[in-house]
Amino acid sequence: MSSIPNEIVERVRLEANIVDVISDYVRLRRTGKNWTGLCPFHDDKRPSFAVEPVRGIYKCFSCGKGGNVFTFLTEKNGWTFPESVRHLAAQLGIEIPEDHADREQYTENERLAAAIREAARFYYSTLRSDSGLPAQAYFKGRGFTDETILRFGLGYAPDEWETLLKRLTEQGFTNQELEKAGLILKREGRAGWYDRFRGRTMFPIFGATGRVIGFGARRMNEDPNQPKYINTPETPIYQKSRVLYGLFQAKDSIRKRELALFVEGYADVISLHQAGVDIAIATCGTAMTPDHAELIRRYTNRVVLIFDSDRAGEAATERGIDVLLRHGLDVSVMRLPNGEDPDTFIQKFGAKEFEQRVAASVSFLEFRARSMKIAGDFDAPERKADAIRSIVGAIALIPDTLKRELYVQKLAADYHLPETLLTQELARAVGTQSTRRPRQLPAAPQPALPADPAPADAAQEDGALQTAAVATVPQQQALLPDLQPSVLRKPITPAELPPEEFGLLKVLVRGDQQLLEHVFAHIDPDDFTHHVTRELVGLILAHYVNQRSFVLDDLLMEEMNPELRDLVTLLAIERETISTHWSRWDPELREPNYWKIARDCLVRIAKASERRQFQTIQEELLKLDSDQTLAEEEREEKKRAYFQRIRELNDWHRNLSALQEG
Ligand SMILES: [Zn+2]
Repeated sequence: MSSIPNEIVERVRLEANIVDVISDYVRLRRTGKNWTGLCPFHDDKRPSFAVEPVRGIYKCFSCGKGGNVFTFLTEKNGWTFPESVRHLAAQLGIEIPEDHADREQYTENERLAAAIREAARFYYSTLRSDSGLPAQAYFKGRGFTDETILRFGLGYAPDEWETLLKRLTEQGFTNQELEKAGLILKREGRAGWYDRFRGRTMFPIFGATGRVIGFGARRMNEDPNQPKYINTPETPIYQKSRVLYGLFQAKDSIRKRELALFVEGYADVISLHQAGVDIAIATCGTAMTPDHAELIRRYTNRVVLIFDSDRAGEAATERGIDVLLRHGLDVSVMRLPNGEDPDTFIQKFGAKEFEQRVAASVSFLEFRARSMKIAGDFDAPERKADAIRSIVGAIALIPDTLKRELYVQKLAADYHLPETLLTQELARAVGTQSTRRPRQLPAAPQPALPADPAPADAAQEDGALQTAAVATVPQQQALLPDLQPSVLRKPITPAELPPEEFGLLKVLVRGDQQLLEHVFAHIDPDDFTHHVTRELVGLILAHYVNQRSFVLDDLLMEEMNPELRDLVTLLAIERETISTHWSRWDPELREPNYWKIARDCLVRIAKASERRQFQTIQEELLKLDSDQTLAEEEREEKKRAYFQRIRELNDWHRNLSALQEG
């Protein structure tokens, strides 16, 4: 078997989503930027295994195993390295040249890429030459600095028919190669070829890994008979539906800020970067595609779409939002004042003003609801129903049920719409969509409906819509067990939580690293009896495993289910109250001994858990003895496992006793 070219191995590594790959073997749970789960390489009792999608690596903090997608598959499946690469390449639809013909094909693509690279060099050097003076003036007129021109590799295609053609032919490229690369065109009706780009400023388009794969070429005058931009056509190495302009230059900052800005044109991207807003990207003259959404999701989950005000609300824009939502991205929308685009805006008002607007951007939900309110869609009964359906339809695209619920709550609150009605509409919309990808979820009891909170004057039309919705809802109701209207929920109070569990959490959220280490060395989330405390401890552990630290304020920023949110808020309030209390009332009073509090709570939780586990094992042992379906050998095998478990519990017990005395 032939060896796999390094470029292909690298491409597979970059394109493979390590979270998806590992999720086939390990249940991973999101914790901030990273994912955690039980380590598949050792007998893991608590989640020690972390996956970092950004760097494409995994590591286990207990057994120390770590690596990339390939090492994971080799270690887990006992495959050879090439087997792992081939497996992933097949999944990603990346062809590996096996025989002679494929190898030639591969070589051909490499030659196309080389031709494009040479063309980019040619355009860049032409810009610096005398014939490039008009283009230099043009870029200067747009306010681009030399540094910017270099960073984006901007250039100039001379207004001549065969200059590039001749130059690249001299370098050994064939006409066929140059045509395939999209650089030259065949003359119609006679022999010969000519340059595709002439008399235009050149914007090289970089792939995410930084190689030039195509060009956007802008006219330098405002002649309406010429297209403003000419782009490289689809070629074997350039597919516009899979490329984002500026991503190569923006990706590190996008990761850092966990935010990307979508603008409309190449010049917008460049202007923003030059002004320091270096997280701007654009599609290359095409509508947003699922590939774009997947591409950006490797770097961030948050995007802000920025529109010239006259373009907002267009069908293409709306579809773009839908594509992004469907891929789980958080989408906000920012509008610019009339007559401004990002380029003109930032030159006039500067980066600070621009960033303020980014910070004030509104969620897609508010954006849509506001446009509809302005259009009067909420005022006429028949239009109101359609308007609500359209908004709820967008919410239904979001894969995360929890987020969907939050959006519905917000929509209900902001626009005084009955939440139950929205929930039903959502159920219907989700039901329609999930026919594409059926899921099996357990049926849930129908929640009791709260009184309709709609204002009296709106009751009539709401009633009409509600009737229509109810008629179509029942068969889909079972799809949404977790969508209970939040008005039914009473917030959690400390009184209903086991005191030792709440007490330990109060200490844990202070974030003392040694203390966290100590606590997690002795117990894990399963030892907690209340489902919310258990969930929060799991979250703290995951943060800690990921980052070797835990900061409560990080949690306050995360979206989570309402009960968990209650608990986090309680703990945050508690923390504030306690610290104010000490400093204000008694400066002499020493802070409580957190280690002692932690130890007391820890021992109580652990002992209770220990008792429960012993009891379970005893029950299982009893059942085992009376189980007639088991062969003697199986019975012995199971017993051995239980006795082993008892021995472990005894060890744990000794540890705890030492702890209690120490
Ligand atoms: Zn491990």
